[in-house]
Amino acid sequence: MPKRNIKPGDDVDFELYDLDTTEFVCSQHINDDYIKKFIQKNGTKGKCDYCDKNINVIELYKVLELIITGIDYLYEDPANSRYLNKNGLHGFDGNTFDFYDLWNEDYLDLKIENTNLFEDIYKYLENDSLYCNIDEYGSETDFLNDSWSHFKRIVKHKARFVFHFKDVFSNHNLVDPLSILDKVQNSIIKFNLITELKENSILYRCRQHTTENEVNLAKHLASTPLTFSKANGRMNPAGISMFYCSKSKDLTIKEVVDSSDKSKPFYTTGIFRNKEKLSLVDLTNIPIAGSIFDSSANIDIDTIAFLNGFIEDIAKPINSDDSIIEYIPTQIVTEYIRFNPNLNVDGIIYPSSKDNSLKNIVVFYDHDESIDNLNFSKSSLKTESI
Ligand SMILES: [Zn+2]
Repeated sequence: MPKRNIKPGDDVDFELYDLDTTEFVCSQHINDDYIKKFIQKNGTKGKCDYCDKNINVIELYKVLELIITGIDYLYEDPANSRYLNKNGLHGFDGNTFDFYDLWNEDYLDLKIENTNLFEDIYKYLENDSLYCNIDEYGSETDFLNDSWSHFKRIVKHKARFVFHFKDVFSNHNLVDPLSILDKVQNSIIKFNLITELKENSILYRCRQHTTENEVNLAKHLASTPLTFSKANGRMNPAGISMFYCSKSKDLTIKEVVDSSDKSKPFYTTGIFRNKEKLSLVDLTNIPIAGSIFDSSANIDIDTIAFLNGFIEDIAKPINSDDSIIEYIPTQIVTEYIRFNPNLNVDGIIYPSSKDNSLKNIVVFYDHDESIDNLNFSKSSLKTESI
């Protein structure tokens, strides 16, 4: 049978397979959301060869292309990546298998119950090549997670300020600590994570204090004055003052007020508004990972998995006894974002460690900058006891 030469994706090897189909299929027989939606969206009214219904159907070869895309995402030819091994099942290291196994063991988890469809697809895609898992010895996600762990280990326990010396601080994978920061920068740009905070947006601040009437002016609620900026924050090291705030009053209170601290029985909330629009990196807006069957989205699956883990790490609750060391990686990431000319942003939106569904904002304003660049609403001040 002649082989149709269809190449929607550059890297996918369609040549191996026979795509010269005559059948039409509807969306009800394959248990994968992406493939179902693809058929519903791209199909036209007609008769399904597998259930005889008049319904939205698509040429079978278009479904085969998706399946091949998924196979190509997950597997590769061991001849290209594995050492020869006389004792291996097919003469290679690791777990190798042929198309018969791949299909009959349903490695793609398609759960096709219609026997005719199951056999038709087998008939078209069957071939002599061998497969092995691309991820068997570590996925791209594993690699990125290892790189992030390496970065944390170096900056927490080895070198805080000069970790950019690549040759000195590279790990066994030849990953240097700076490379993971570049990955973060590139992801921010690639996934368009920079968002605009409109001018005059409401930003809540909160401060816990000792005497009832001590917080009554903008300067009392603004970023900490440099002379008092002696505490480490999640995003700022001691000595570098930033404006932590939120659009949610309740969250701001939750983040700031420590009800076990009886030496400060009062807290005050107030509203600031930005005079100019602000450009913020929104770390709460990571895209949902695409399907392995979607050639335009599956290349980002690993990066998105890494970013989700990275952000969980950035937002995780940290015991105050550990904070001096544990906040160092996020402080460095913050500084890298802050002074990065390729990003050129004023702050970061990140998930709250108290409640991951709520968003905190840090704006890179010290005490004077927060007073100069933000309008303060005196009438918004509200003092309560804890
Ligand atoms: Zn059908």
